[in-house]
Amino acid sequence: MSIITPNPETIKANDTLSEGHSDSNIDDTATELLGLWEFVVESYDIDEARQESIFHCRICFDYGICPGCRNVSGDIHQTKHRSVRDMMCFGRIVYLTFDIRRFRCPQCHKVFTESLDSIAPNQRNTRRFERMVYQECMGQTFQNVAKKLGMNWHTVERMFYQKACEQFQRNAKQFPQILGVDEISNKKGHKQYLLVISDLQRNCVIEVLPNRLRNTLVKWLYTLPAWIREEIKVVSMDLWKPYRMAIAQVLPHAEIVADRYHVTKNLNDVLDKVRRAIQKHLPKEVASKLKGLRWVLLKNQGDLDDAEKQKLQIAYELSPLLRKLHQLKERFRSIFQHITDRKQAERFLQAWVCEVKQFGCDRLLKFVETLERWWDPILNYFNRRITSGAVEGLNNRIKLIKRCAYGYRNVTNFRNRIVAEISGAGPLAVCYHTNAR
Ligand SMILES: [Zn+2]
Repeated sequence: MSIITPNPETIKANDTLSEGHSDSNIDDTATELLGLWEFVVESYDIDEARQESIFHCRICFDYGICPGCRNVSGDIHQTKHRSVRDMMCFGRIVYLTFDIRRFRCPQCHKVFTESLDSIAPNQRNTRRFERMVYQECMGQTFQNVAKKLGMNWHTVERMFYQKACEQFQRNAKQFPQILGVDEISNKKGHKQYLLVISDLQRNCVIEVLPNRLRNTLVKWLYTLPAWIREEIKVVSMDLWKPYRMAIAQVLPHAEIVADRYHVTKNLNDVLDKVRRAIQKHLPKEVASKLKGLRWVLLKNQGDLDDAEKQKLQIAYELSPLLRKLHQLKERFRSIFQHITDRKQAERFLQAWVCEVKQFGCDRLLKFVETLERWWDPILNYFNRRITSGAVEGLNNRIKLIKRCAYGYRNVTNFRNRIVAEISGAGPLAVCYHTNAR
């Protein structure tokens, strides 16, 4: 095979180039160092001014395989000079230059460009460089990565999302049986929510949807192949009716679990509202003694220290209503904490509801109404003790991503970034990657 001489046009800033190195021993070493089996390094140049190393290579086989009929062809129709970016080496940017060939198939006469393992078709980077850029982007802004690698940040962004989509598709086969459905607010104070769907077995995000409407969730569920939908056994959610209706519609076989922490949070909110109403009208000297009462009331009673216990005592004496509510809250919590059997839990909860109804505080009665509406999903918790607790941790990571990117103008990019960074699973539906900003 003939040795291909590098095309001087691709070598930039000729005047600053050191002399081309071409010594067979050195080149064997360079080939080994490069470590791409398809390429043999024939010579290299170093551009000190631009901090670049340019490896002039040739492809080490002299035939191509026809993509149409799988026939081998050695009949070169045309060659084209190419230059691709590779991994940094010793702090320098690395380019590989080589001739890529078009062959004519002896069988079907089609002309085709040879395909390479280390470079995807029509890409200007080696696959390993693309992987590295993708990894670098984890937890970093595109701008930072671009600066570090001497690239345009738009290019980094494009490479990231392209790789993310490939990753998503590769992972689509591993499907979780236990889904978490929860929302996060996208913009503070705007009441704009994103719907986060997570895998509660592997604690990772599967998908982020642009809002929390029933129809949005239904549509997404229908993008999943039927066999994947059948695999989903349990869906854990907060007490949001549209989610429940969507799941009942598309996954009638799945068990709906009302997330325990959201249930107790509703009760805590009742307690807190009553506390606020009481504290508002206290004389100053009493009010100062009760600073921080909020956390004392919401904390598990068993975790209170002496000062906190004292505060609780003062509050108890001040308001019998608060006392009763707090005791009810603690009892409610302990049902979830200690009882493992569903039937037993149901008996305890029924007794609790009876007591509340006799007691008859309006706010609490409202909570009981919710409880009764969600009775089965709440009790389903006791079947497997599944919670979306892990989702909270995921939400914190999402907030970090949001901060790291100074807010996202484009929901799709935000979603792709979340899924790429916090996904062991990857989204299941078709990736809706766009280059749009
Ligand atoms: Zn062919």
